[in-house]
Amino acid sequence: MRLILLGAPGAGKGTVAKLLTKMDGSVQISTGDILRAAVKAGTELGKKAEAAMTAGELVSDDLIMGIMGERLLEDDCKAGFLLDGFPRTIPQAEALKVLLEKLGIELDAAVNLNVPRDVILDRLTTRRTCTDCGAIYNVKSNPPKQEGVCDACGGSVVQRDDETEEAISKRLDVFNEQTAPLVGFYEGEGMLLDINATSSDVVVDAIKAKIGA
Ligand code: ADP
Ligand code: ZN
Repeated sequence: MRLILLGAPGAGKGTVAKLLTKMDGSVQISTGDILRAAVKAGTELGKKAEAAMTAGELVSDDLIMGIMGERLLEDDCKAGFLLDGFPRTIPQAEALKVLLEKLGIELDAAVNLNVPRDVILDRLTTRRTCTDCGAIYNVKSNPPKQEGVCDACGGSVVQRDDETEEAISKRLDVFNEQTAPLVGFYEGEGMLLDINATSSDVVVDAIKAKIGA
């Protein structure tokens, strides 16, 4: 399957993407994970992205399109892909449309995960992430077996730098200003699947029904 996953930070894009990859071998492409890996490795890309990320702002469209233009050409994308955290602005959505037309690739849908703001805030402040494999935990509902240690890879499970209260509220503002308009964009393209996303199982079932899986 080939999907765009839209939704606020904490809406569950990463969790849903991980569940969907198990269905048909599609790859999850998370621009946030790609950027965090670059920051951790200290690459040129990481240096360019780090300040914006820590502040909860977006990195530039050019930088993101450079990454995604290359990523979508990789072999593993042939089995399908789930775009998690991309596109995030109207210019990115327009550039993606041109890119996919050039590659002759059609998307199944742009899925909007709708979650109330109070649920989002609660999830983000209690979320913890593995710095090695990106696995997502929650201190209340899904803690790792040993505190601070990833069940999957043994890496360290921490609160992300951009998950302070200040950065979270900035990220939500940025989302409302720059990313929420994508819902209208994909509605106009006839591609929107809008889902009440308080439970990730409900989301997965709705997507299966939509794409006939
Ligand atoms: P979230 O939990 O907010 O969905 P992500 O892991 O997707 O977080 O992204 C973390 C940060 O990486 C963002 O706050 C932003 O700085 C940067 N980023 C990720 N994807 C994009 C994108 N498509 N365009 C611009 N910046 C991005
Ligand atoms: Zn891990």
